[in-house]
Amino acid sequence: MMGYDYMHRVYNFSPGPAALPLPVLEQARDEFLDWQGNGMSVMEMGHRTASFEALAAQTEVDLRELLNIPSNYKVLFLSGGARVQFAMIPLNLLGDYGTADYVDTGIWAEIAIKEAQKYGRVNTVSLATWQTDPNAAYLHYTSNETIDGIQFHYIPETKAPLVCDMSSDILCQPIDVSRFGLIYASAQKNIGPAGLTVVIVRDDLLDRASKLTPTVFHYKTQAEKQSLYNTPPTYSWYLAGLVFQWLKKQGGLKAIAEINHRKAKKLYQAIDKSEFYHNPVQPDFRSIMNIPFTLKKPELDTLFLQEALQAGLANLKGHNLVGGMRASIYNAIPEEAVDALIAFMRDFETRYG
Ligand code: PMP
Repeated sequence: MMGYDYMHRVYNFSPGPAALPLPVLEQARDEFLDWQGNGMSVMEMGHRTASFEALAAQTEVDLRELLNIPSNYKVLFLSGGARVQFAMIPLNLLGDYGTADYVDTGIWAEIAIKEAQKYGRVNTVSLATWQTDPNAAYLHYTSNETIDGIQFHYIPETKAPLVCDMSSDILCQPIDVSRFGLIYASAQKNIGPAGLTVVIVRDDLLDRASKLTPTVFHYKTQAEKQSLYNTPPTYSWYLAGLVFQWLKKQGGLKAIAEINHRKAKKLYQAIDKSEFYHNPVQPDFRSIMNIPFTLKKPELDTLFLQEALQAGLANLKGHNLVGGMRASIYNAIPEEAVDALIAFMRDFETRYG
């Protein structure tokens, strides 16, 4: 392709919407005006056309293959983000006024808890005491706390169906889907652009909704209509499909997991070795996707971010609620980006530490 100067692309450590794999963006660019000889862009095409339905079906096949999703699970491609699921889950699974267990791991878990409390009783479970309710309709947990940089490296044992917010770590490594009742994830980290949410739900949970559940929010409606009950975010869906194909080309989740673990290990080692940078998370719960860190001299935060950007390292500012820095190193972040970040951090420490 002509003309684009790749020197302008930065290493983008954004927590989400986040970097997409370059080959995906290039393919989308090449197909933008005319998708597969249709004479139009995917985004100009009806969602009930044969062409789009074929794209949708292939996207689901690819995701099922990547995650090894058993046949008794439906895969839904819905609009809205994970916050819509914060409401849809209790509406669909709590019945009228039931109780659900919610594990409190951090900022996102707490937002999910607040929303669920509108629809029923929430039993808050702490990691330390793990007191679940024997009658809980489900147990909800957040596998990766994007802001706090806390990740589960095991799947909790429960009697109640397990419901998991995997927004920021889905597809980062293989998982055993059969252990879950429902998995959901906003697209804008490891799946594609914002606007799309993937829900993987076991068949027996499709039709337990409270009577008040809006039709468009009922999992059963969406499952019966192949997620085409309402108009889905078609272009995001198409890009998610390209991301899944890219992941398959990388060798699937086992291969990407190896790279992800290596990237995270390097960065944690660099932080731990230094007297200048600090990560507060207990090693067993450190995230391989979002790595927050602080500078010993917080008055240098702004300078750190300015100089990082000049070095082509963008979006390293931590979330306002916690401050400091955060490197989000999702699947699309190449290992060279992490190497460049570590080199920059060392250099900054040498000059200002
Ligand atoms: N859960 C987690 C773990 C997240 O990281 C986010 C977004 N950063 C959300 C939920 C909310 O997602 P959305 O903004 O797409 O509703």
